[in-house]
Amino acid sequence: MNTKKLEQKIQACKACPLHKVVCQKVIYRGTLPADIIFIGEAPGISENALGVPFVGPVGKLLDDMLASVDIKYQFAITNAIMCLPVQDSSSREPTKQEISACNPNLISIINLKRPLMIVTMGKVAKSAIPKHLITSLSKYGTKFLHLVHPSYILRKKAADRLAEKTRWELTLSEALEDAGLLIDPEETDQETTE
Ligand code: SF4
Repeated sequence: MNTKKLEQKIQACKACPLHKVVCQKVIYRGTLPADIIFIGEAPGISENALGVPFVGPVGKLLDDMLASVDIKYQFAITNAIMCLPVQDSSSREPTKQEISACNPNLISIINLKRPLMIVTMGKVAKSAIPKHLITSLSKYGTKFLHLVHPSYILRKKAADRLAEKTRWELTLSEALEDAGLLIDPEETDQETTE
């Protein structure tokens, strides 16, 4: 399945009751198929309004941290579920049932191309990656990294926030370096053709 068809399929998804309350599905931003996939929890109110994941202060923090690492591979940012989980007009954590219902959508995004690295952000994202997928993708070299969700950093007191942010950036940077993903892929291609 190509990206456009997958987007259409997810847009039409009614696999859990959340489709009844959302403005629109929030599928991804960045580039798909992706070499590196960042997975968060679920769309919030702003994301639901815009149809784009990680907007607002949390999205800005994530963008700042990603920019500081200077990722040279194509990456996409998505969530464990594609619809806003709501209760009494406020966003809430997705339930296990919602995560499970949306899992085929997330796995389809991951499987558009075997990613070089999957970065889960927060416990919900971590719980959404099935063990069998980790096992099968790891066999072909996909690396997995777990980081805290950017909203966790944003909730820290100002005095601690910078240290958490720096830790997040360093952990990602080191993991990318260990996986050989801090080098520009075009340079790698040139080396192999010389
Ligand atoms: S959260 Fe996922 S499974 Fe539920 S309706 Fe939205 S796209 Fe479908």
